[in-house]
Amino acid sequence: MQAAIDSKITDAEWEVMRVIWTNQPITSKFISEVLVDKMNWKPATIKTLIGRLVEKGFVSTEQEGNRYLYSATKTESESIHKMTKEVIDHVCATKVGSVLADLIEQSLLSKDDVKRLEEVIQSKKADAVEAVPCNCVPGQCDC
Ligand SMILES: [Zn+2]
Repeated sequence: MQAAIDSKITDAEWEVMRVIWTNQPITSKFISEVLVDKMNWKPATIKTLIGRLVEKGFVSTEQEGNRYLYSATKTESESIHKMTKEVIDHVCATKVGSVLADLIEQSLLSKDDVKRLEEVIQSKKADAVEAVPCNCVPGQCDC
């Protein structure tokens, strides 16, 4: 069984995953070319990151002649969903609303984005509670 930490994608690995999601199936050479200017990584670093993503099960490999092609095992939206859920899981349930408000405030949004958010808020109004109960272990928050 893998350790919990192994199921997470690190910041560096996210950079690689984004290239894979956009261009899969893809070679490590192509990933290096995309990220060379942004990250200033050596090809060996890219290969190490891909190796870890393969070990963690986020990337699959397929041999084609003398080269390897990499593909993501989960979609970008599935992975983003998991990441945002992890962010939410790291804060007291009573603070989630203000975390979300903060995220919205910090973000540049299109008119369509705002419309979508309004729809989500409208649907949330129906099952909003008076007060969200704290879900923390005593000593982890001061609710
Ligand atoms: Zn709490």
